[in-house]
Amino acid sequence: MITFKGDVRVEDIIEVKNLTKAFSNKVVLKDVNFSVKKGETFGFLGPSGSGKTTTIKILTSQLLHTKGDVHIFNKPIQKQNKYDYMKKIGVLTDNSTLYERLTIYDNLLLYCKLYDVDKKRINEVLTDVNLLNEQKVIVQRLSKGMKQRVTLARALLHKPAILFLDEPTSALDPVNSKHIYRGLKKLNEEGTTIFLTTHDMHEAEEICDRVAFLHNGEIKLLDTPQNLRCQYSEGFISLMLKSGEVLTIKNDEQGADKISDYIKKKELVSIHSNEPSLGDIFVRLTGSEL
Ligand code: ADP
Ligand code: MG
Repeated sequence: MITFKGDVRVEDIIEVKNLTKAFSNKVVLKDVNFSVKKGETFGFLGPSGSGKTTTIKILTSQLLHTKGDVHIFNKPIQKQNKYDYMKKIGVLTDNSTLYERLTIYDNLLLYCKLYDVDKKRINEVLTDVNLLNEQKVIVQRLSKGMKQRVTLARALLHKPAILFLDEPTSALDPVNSKHIYRGLKKLNEEGTTIFLTTHDMHEAEEICDRVAFLHNGEIKLLDTPQNLRCQYSEGFISLMLKSGEVLTIKNDEQGADKISDYIKKKELVSIHSNEPSLGDIFVRLTGSEL
């Protein structure tokens, strides 16, 4: 499908219709529908067991789906030429394929040869994942989080058109997560479409243009984080007064009069909207925590 953003033509780079996946008799994805626009960062959010990894494995051609249509680059997934497809996408899943006995640098060098990429690119991707100073270290000696960052560096090497990330920061501390977000934003600005799964709502709010909430194999909501927060905000505003008191008032005419009074009396310190976080919305919608 093609849509317009202003005058700009935006095409769907991933189109998923009525996607169903069953393992034996167990249905883990039920009639899932969504599309990702070229240039978007799209987040697939859901608790453990909701079907995130299954979806990413289907989209990256590691797993066959049971029913429905999956089109990527306007072509059915089952008709992609495997080699061409792998050159156009980058994948980070749990089954990391690093050579444990080689250094970080040599691991990446190997993939440069495989993908036909200039080795100058190695320094750039190591900077993006904050591992430039560790490049001579053998992979075996790395922590889980560092291995995750090397795998991410490898997925970025060939500047893929679409980057698929399955819980990219699950083993990382907040500082390294922030560093990765900056790297992903840069890559996205350079034109890479990003599809990521996460159970971390802050991560989703930080980097995603749109998010889908997955629960028990079904999409429950799909929109921009901002629209979701507005849609679920209850129309209340919080005021903080000089006395330290925090008041919650209705976002209506009477509320406006109250705010105006506090301003006139110079008692008002700050005003906050009472928008729920994505995590709050998920709990409200599904009754379960992430
Ligand atoms: P998530 O990544 O959101 O945690 P998954 O996609 O890994 O969820 O799993 C969704 C459901 O599918 C789970 O109930 C899981 O046990 C089941 N599942 C995943 N892979 C297999 C498999 N190979 N065989 C049988 N069941 C599976
Ligand atoms: Mg998973």
